[in-house]
Amino acid sequence: MNIFEQHESEVRGYCRSFPAVFASAKGAWMTDNKGRRYLDFFSGAGVLNYGHNPDKIKQALLAYLVRDGITHTLDMYSEAKEAFIQRFHDVILQPRGLSYKFQFPGPTGTNAVEAALKLARKATGREQVVGFTNAFHGMTLGALAVTGNGFKRAGAGVSLNHATSMPFDGYMGTDTDTLDYFESMIIDGGSGMELPAAVILETVQAEGGVNVASVEWIRRLREITARHGIVLIVDDIQVGCGRTGHFFSFEEAGIVPDMVTLSKSLSGYGLPLALVLIKPELDQWAPGEHNGTFRGHCPAFVTGTAALSFWTNTLLQDAVGQKSALAFDRLHQMLKRQGVEAPVRGRGLIQGVEFAEPGLATRISQACFERGLIIETAGIDDQVLKLLPSLTIKEGELLHGLDTIETSLQAVLRQDMRKAA
Ligand SMILES: *Cc1c(COP(=O)(O)O)cnc(C)c1O
Repeated sequence: MNIFEQHESEVRGYCRSFPAVFASAKGAWMTDNKGRRYLDFFSGAGVLNYGHNPDKIKQALLAYLVRDGITHTLDMYSEAKEAFIQRFHDVILQPRGLSYKFQFPGPTGTNAVEAALKLARKATGREQVVGFTNAFHGMTLGALAVTGNGFKRAGAGVSLNHATSMPFDGYMGTDTDTLDYFESMIIDGGSGMELPAAVILETVQAEGGVNVASVEWIRRLREITARHGIVLIVDDIQVGCGRTGHFFSFEEAGIVPDMVTLSKSLSGYGLPLALVLIKPELDQWAPGEHNGTFRGHCPAFVTGTAALSFWTNTLLQDAVGQKSALAFDRLHQMLKRQGVEAPVRGRGLIQGVEFAEPGLATRISQACFERGLIIETAGIDDQVLKLLPSLTIKEGELLHGLDTIETSLQAVLRQDMRKAA
């Protein structure tokens, strides 16, 4: 029994799928304490969009630490925060014609979601919020109430209130526009549903199985929510910061949400940092009404500011488009070659392959790990193999990882054939 199994709580999760003791990492590669290297197609669940320890960001952090730049300020003003807000405004918001106030909640994604939901309730004076089937928004009670996963919900130990679940795009099959149902529930005085304060949306449900909302569906949801004065929150914690190609995942649909939550890759370095972007008229907080000890950690502001250099031109965005097409292509080819029918979904560099056979995606993920590739599963039954490589991964590395997936898939299918024989 290792020290983790001996002393760490049973709650530990990812280490069970990837039981190595990691020591260092660079770019798309992680190295364990035995010197074994793993190609990373997981990227810390979308925290490491720019890869592990990217040099330019690391240099900015080191320089800041060496000059004794201030580390902790609660939410007092700091040069580091000033530079981040200015840069984010100049590089991200202004060129997109977006106008938002910045709220830095506690440093995790779930805290950003809690803040957004609280503020939507306060601003509208209404209680109910709407989440979607198979959504994932975090583990604290407010965020959990709009999360689909029954196992995680049950972990709350109390009833999760003031939230309603609506069918996500495609949930009722391809012939049904689930927004017809949502709109009826809102318009019809007999529906039994109160007018919600907010709707919270992931444009691509990353944890929930790489379910992709179509741009038409996203646009229509924006229209419906706008018409009824419902706050539209886009939770871009996992698929923002360039994961789908554009900086924000909703840009392709051309909509403007009322609030946006960001976290995972926002600091660009794996340092915890979260942000709620709020339309100015909704910024109805009283001073200190939502607080937290680690609201905007200065080293994370420094790395987050440096990371925005990736967004001063379209090089990264274009590269994501190319690598995305390459990966989709290779996935389709390998499934065909191996004689497996499985839908491939995604947008940009988040891609999922859904396997009908129970347990198959998990076994492929395990076979990949044995061959030096870290790749996760998603979906309520872990039925989706989920590709989440860094956006900066080299084409050769991407192809190497895709080859490993094919070899692993083939090995798992062969095992099954042997068992059947
Ligand atoms: C990870 C995630 C969260 C929660 O973030 P934490 O930092 O784990 O609290 C919320 N929403 C989405 C879409 C996420 O992927």
